[in-house]
This record gives sequence, C-alpha cells and structure tokens, in this order.
Amino acid sequence: MRARVGAWTTATLCFVGLTLVVQAYWQVIAAPWVTALPWDTHDRLRARLARPGRLLSRDGVEILSPSRTDSGWSYRYGAPEAFAHVSGYDERTGLRGTLSDLLLGGARYFDWRVFFTEPVPPGCDVVVTLDSRAQAVAAQALKGYRGCVMAVRVGDGAVLAAASAPGFNPLMMTTDEEVEVVATDPYQPLLFRPTQKLYAPGWAMAWVAAVAAIEHGQDLAQRRWECDGAWQCGRMTIRCPVAHGRVGLAEALLRRCRVAITQASDELGAVAFRDMLKALHLLDQGAGMGLPSAAGKMPDLFNWRGRENLADAVLGQRFVRLTPLAVARLFLTMARGGEVVQPYLVAQVRSPSGRMIRAFQAKALGKAVSSQTAARVIELVAAGGEQYRSTTVELGRAEDLGGAGAVAWWVEDEEKPGLGNAWLVGMAPAAQPQILVALVLEDVPDEKMAVELGMSLLNYLGRMAV
Ligand SMILES: [Zn+2]
Repeated sequence: MRARVGAWTTATLCFVGLTLVVQAYWQVIAAPWVTALPWDTHDRLRARLARPGRLLSRDGVEILSPSRTDSGWSYRYGAPEAFAHVSGYDERTGLRGTLSDLLLGGARYFDWRVFFTEPVPPGCDVVVTLDSRAQAVAAQALKGYRGCVMAVRVGDGAVLAAASAPGFNPLMMTTDEEVEVVATDPYQPLLFRPTQKLYAPGWAMAWVAAVAAIEHGQDLAQRRWECDGAWQCGRMTIRCPVAHGRVGLAEALLRRCRVAITQASDELGAVAFRDMLKALHLLDQGAGMGLPSAAGKMPDLFNWRGRENLADAVLGQRFVRLTPLAVARLFLTMARGGEVVQPYLVAQVRSPSGRMIRAFQAKALGKAVSSQTAARVIELVAAGGEQYRSTTVELGRAEDLGGAGAVAWWVEDEEKPGLGNAWLVGMAPAAQPQILVALVLEDVPDEKMAVELGMSLLNYLGRMAV
C-alpha cells in the first residue's frame, strides 16, 4: 500500500515538474522567438490595443506622443521635420523601429506591475540626449543645403543635435505612394547622414597621421620637410597648390601641405598608422546611436600598392570613407584627453508609471593616445580657429567662452570638378572644449559656408550652456 502511494506521488511530481519545464521553455525561453513568428498576432494585437510610450527630448519636448484613433493607437509628431530621421515615419524606421520593444512595452522591458492598474499595459517612455532647441537650430541651419551636422557634449559624449538634409516630413509619409516618392529621390532624404553616409574624409585623415606622429615620438614632431609643390611617392605624385617651403608638422597640418604630411606618414610607416586607426576606433560603427550606422573603409596598407595606399589614406581620398560621426568621434577623443567614447543618443527608459528603468551612457572604448598628445592636438585646433575668427560675424560672441577652436577643409568631388564637400569641426571653449560641432555640406565650391554655419551653431550652443 505504502509503495503504491509512493509511486503515485513520484508520478505526480514528475508530471508537475515536466509541465513546469515545458511551460518555462515555451513561455519564457522560446517566447521572443514565438512572438516573432509571422503568424503570431499577439504583438500586433498588443501594438493596436496598448498605449505606446512617448519619445522625449532631454528638455522634455514630446517628439512622439501617442494618440488614440478609430483603428487603434498611432503617434503624433511634436516637431516632425527637425526630428524626422530620429523618430522615423512608421513602426519600422528611426527609433520607432529600433526601439519598438521599449515603446510598445514588449519583450524584456515588459513591466508586469502595470497589469494591476491598466487593462492593456502601455509601453515605456524613451528619453533621447537631443536638445529640442539645438536640434531645431541645427535643422534650420541646413535648410537649402545637403549635408549634416552633429553637436556632442565633450564631458559625457551625449549627442545634443543630429540633423540631416535633405529631410522629409513624416506627416507626408502616410501612403505607399508618398513613401515611394521620397525613397527614390536621388538626394536620399531618408538617409540619416551623420551615421549612414560614407564620405571621403579628406584632411581629417591628415589629423590622424599627425596624431600618430606626435604620439610616436619627438623626432617626427620636431622635424621639418621641404615642400616645393610636388613629391613623388612610389608611382604616385603628391601635389600642393603652392610650394609651402620648409614646414614642420603643425604648419603642414594648418596650412594643408599635402607634400609634408604624406612624407611624414611615409616615414612613420603603415604599421604605426594602422595601429593608430585601431586605437582611435576610427572605422567603428556608431553603436551608441540606436540608429542604422555604417563602418568606415580603408584601403589595404600592406599589399603591392601599400605605400601609395598609405598616402591616399592620409589624404582621405580614393577608397577612404568615413561617416561624419566617425570624424566627430576622432576630435571628441582629443577633446577628452585621448579617451575614446562612442557618442550616444538614447539617454533613459522610463516605465509607464514614470519610474526610471534604465539609464544609458557613452560606451568607453579605452585610451587611444596620451593626454599630452591629445592636449597638443587641441592646441593645434585652437590655432586653427584663429584663422576663422575674421570670416564669421557670429564668432565674436563665442569669445565669451574664451574663443573657439576649429578646423575646416574641402574635398573636391572627382566627378564634379569645382564642387565638393566642405567639412568643419569646431570646439568651444578652445582651451578646454565642452561642446563639439561637426558639419558637412555637400556640393559646395569651398568651405566658407560650412565655417559660417558650424561656427554660429557652436556659438549658439555655447551661449545655451548645454
Ligand atoms: Zn605643401
């Protein structure tokens, strides 16, 4: 008798145990996979019934706010055009696409406590690092141009503004036909240029070579090179528009002497240059942005054409490509005393009840160069800013911050002679930067307008004290 009871108990326990294991597997472990199956309608049903979370700027402006319609929940856009690329225009684009788990309250961010208060649990609120005023000014500055601009706070790597032009209006993207028109526009309005567009970075790469030379030791930093307007590098001729004469590294950088900078990197060698690219994480994607982002491209520095490829790499031409974010990150690293961080865009996730669930910060990627090297580069950027002081009207006000440092350059388009992309990287205050602005204008004849727009944005941010 006792043996039979024992057998029954064991059988029951086995059954309960097995049920628990099976349930745990399907309900917890396999749940994300099951809900992702095309014929599972739970998520879509949730998305229709549940109030989605809001998307907020750091200063509290509602970029996306939920609104109830006859067919379920949809979004209203607080500042549709300024935030178009960041918000996206449907549930698959922008942060609406990449953060749909958070905004719809699904997956691991699901908060079971709200079951007690709401019949259909709402999604989480997401706060981004963008400042609505800075974003509006940045978007406005690009009106009538193609290109992009980013503003980053040096202290923590938070992205304060990130605008891309041409843009689009999410309110005008409601039908397939409307989307088709924008998607097939040759100027690519849907592209979020700061993280997605790969440009020939031009003179930005000369700064990488200079950083490597300074870091490498005194001999290169103290040397001088003779520029008579041309230099033969293997099978390639490097030319300067004028003969710069005898120049050192700093002069070569600021006066854009191609002959001297390629000679310096030729002496430095491909190994040291490649190691510096790695230490700076120059080719990395913009992983902290929460939006699609492209990795940089560099030619092979060690094949039969290695020597010429190194010269191309240092001049940022031919096969070299970087996103504006990567160029911004390079100068941000110098402003942060040599420490590389991945700038970030998503600041916080808050539960429907307002409780903070998660706070994000810039991902630290290690120290690329010594503090002395970084300080020397910042000195050079500050010296670069001197020459733009007379070209901009607004810059006078930036002197409240002790002046701004800036470097600007222009990269001619191989297919459109006379036109090219203008770049500006500006920092304020010059001596100890707190804000960094990186800007690219496409198809312009020189860098003048980029300097003017970039410096006035820097000036604006400096006065806003963000
Ligand atoms: Zn030269």
